[in-house]
Amino acid sequence: MPYKSTRSNDIEVHASLAILNGLSEDGGLYMRKDFDKLQIDLRSFQHFSYQEMAENILCRYLDDYPKEVIHECVQKAYTHKFDTEEIVPLVKLKNTYILELFHGPTSAFKDVALSILPHLIQGALKIQNTQDEIIILTATSGDTGKAALEGFKDVNQTQIFVFYPNEKVSTIQKAQMVTQTGHNVHVAAVEGNFDDCQSAVKKILTDETINAEMKNKRLSSANSINIGRLIPQIVYYFKAYMDLVNQQEIEMYEKVNFAVPTGNFGNILAGYLAKKMGLPIDRLICASNENNVLTDFIQTGIYNANRSFKTTISPSMDILISSNLERLIYLLCEGNSAMVKNYMDELSLKGSYEVCDLMKKKLQKEFFSGYASDEQTERIIQEVFEKEAYLMDPHTAVAYKVFQDFQKAQLNDHKTVILATASPYKFTHAVMESLHQDAAQDEFELMKQLHEVTQVSIPENLKDLDKKVIQHKDVIHPDEIKNYILEKLGE
Ligand SMILES: *Cc1c(COP(=O)(O)O)cnc(C)c1O
Repeated sequence: MPYKSTRSNDIEVHASLAILNGLSEDGGLYMRKDFDKLQIDLRSFQHFSYQEMAENILCRYLDDYPKEVIHECVQKAYTHKFDTEEIVPLVKLKNTYILELFHGPTSAFKDVALSILPHLIQGALKIQNTQDEIIILTATSGDTGKAALEGFKDVNQTQIFVFYPNEKVSTIQKAQMVTQTGHNVHVAAVEGNFDDCQSAVKKILTDETINAEMKNKRLSSANSINIGRLIPQIVYYFKAYMDLVNQQEIEMYEKVNFAVPTGNFGNILAGYLAKKMGLPIDRLICASNENNVLTDFIQTGIYNANRSFKTTISPSMDILISSNLERLIYLLCEGNSAMVKNYMDELSLKGSYEVCDLMKKKLQKEFFSGYASDEQTERIIQEVFEKEAYLMDPHTAVAYKVFQDFQKAQLNDHKTVILATASPYKFTHAVMESLHQDAAQDEFELMKQLHEVTQVSIPENLKDLDKKVIQHKDVIHPDEIKNYILEKLGE
């Protein structure tokens, strides 16, 4: 069985169970490392559509899914759900390329994976031949929540819970979540930050007593700890590369860099997996905001979460415990799960750990890291809009800033693609301030103003949000999450 827990070699499963469980019972993440079986012949991909690339890649990873099931999942996820047939269009700027990942139903890159995850879960239920209901627990820093709600609403045999940090998401993000309809959705604000939400959810996922308390139900996760979130994200790295080849920006097999705004390390890890599958990537540029744990980690080999949490204008990256880093460490130490377990135990005990020299060297060979303050982020939004007439959201702008740092470091002169992770309209307030516009207080008024100033069109799904009925008002403490879930489930 190809998937093992990052913390124990004895736990191994097929893809369907890895996706249903979300998190391994020992608290580790499911991962595979047999990349010899996952190599892509680049030429065969050159004229594939997005859907064809997705099918090909998913078939390799999802070892126990029938081909027809994968075909159906891909069709359901990517036909008519995105506002462009290309799914993820590539835009050329003067010195770089922007891969727009925000054309899905909620205007954030999380849609790419969360449009397909519910179908992958339904496929897994069939493969496992179970009538159990799947209870999806989701901690969100703002974007995952809405994308997961859209993906799972009214999906048979599932219920979804979303926990977001109270007062720490943007007004638009909050409006998107609290107005969500569907017979199987639950949304609550949590007093705390994203890390508090994520820790509480992880704890419940590995809590044996809760599983005993629920009949015919299983818990799983829609966070990127679920391998079913990561695999679909590999696809767009290949798509961007083939666009560059087909638009004659690069030769086939020429190396490129990708700059990725990073929080939980999911998106950028998908890029690393693409590289392991043969995509010619030189550097992966890891961009953080002022919660720059990852910047320091890549530069020093020390992961230290003991620092004050900052609320920034790129809230989806306000994270101090980056879950998917565990998978990277597992791969960099060739699957030495005892070593990974030690590091993770240290992290939960002391809030920090230091990797060995060899691992640090490997890390620095693959990744470049940097961060942007809010002020720098705002300046970049303004500059790029002024000079190139391209409007970025704050997360994308963070990546742009670190891409500039990378250029200054002169490590290579390959072309670089920046991943754009959200529509600027999800963060109108910060964007308007960056453009030095007198910003109205009301975010929805602001959207109209931003449109007048920039002429960039407003995504349909965000237009009438303020007119929708608020469905969810619960505010709870992290310690109450477990009981909240049991109560809502009627257990
Ligand atoms: C989630 C998110 C990120 C961070 O992605 P990770 O996979 O958690 O690293 C960056 N930008 C936006 C807009 C996001 O929603």
